[in-house]
Amino acid sequence: MRIDIATLFPEMLENYLSQSIVGRARKNGVFSLECHNIRDYTEDKHRRVDDTPYSERQGMLMQCDPIYNCFRSVTEGRKPHVIYMSPQGKTLTQKRAVELSKMDELFILCGHYEGVDSRVLETIVDEEISIGDYVLTGGELPAMVLVDCVVRMLEGTLSQADCYEDESHYNSLLEYPQYTRPEVWQGMKVPGVLLSGDHAKIAAWRREQQIITTLKKRPELLEKAALTHDDLAIIHKVTDEEKG
Ligand code: SAM
Repeated sequence: MRIDIATLFPEMLENYLSQSIVGRARKNGVFSLECHNIRDYTEDKHRRVDDTPYSERQGMLMQCDPIYNCFRSVTEGRKPHVIYMSPQGKTLTQKRAVELSKMDELFILCGHYEGVDSRVLETIVDEEISIGDYVLTGGELPAMVLVDCVVRMLEGTLSQADCYEDESHYNSLLEYPQYTRPEVWQGMKVPGVLLSGDHAKIAAWRREQQIITTLKKRPELLEKAALTHDDLAIIHKVTDEEKG
């Protein structure tokens, strides 16, 4: 996968996206990523990329030309899927991240200040993605969130698919509780089944705990999950217990 990001603050992204698991995957060629400074594409002699909005609003708006020039130059001869990070977009989900991870090329645009002149968005953008119903200063953090989430799904980023398949949200369920050494901490023991070495029992425990955790923390997610008769029996048991 190839990812290009257009931003006024490439260093912010470069720093985060060169570290840890994502940075290692990038270094190992699981995906390639380039951050492009939109300011390099302005024709203004003072390198300006923004101006005041016509709506008599305060603040500054990113202008069309620097963004359009950057897009044209970076994507010449290619047709990547173009995403604008925006609080007006559909909220990012794990499902959408999985879909995006199957694309060959992404071009991500980060807005800043009051946002971006709508005309360039209409011209180049395929999809707007939000990371939540709140407004941030710029699209850089949202772009990092998106890239991190998408590249985790690429083969070669994590050691095995079950690293993410068991994780929260992959199947509309939350993850089961996890434990590491020591076996006893402040009097609290790791559940015995996890020390049993019985793979079938451990798998059944994990599933049960996924159902119970989701029911307790995010019950609305269960509506989207593919539940078995055994899962439903667990839900009824826990609900009945809670009713007393
Ligand atoms: N005036 C815009 C509005 O009300 O829709 C918000 C502009 S915001 C201050 C500046 C930039 O931050 C946006 O252009 C966008 O790229 C990014 N941004 C802010 N909040 C975001 C969110 N929740 N998800 C994705 N991007 C966001």
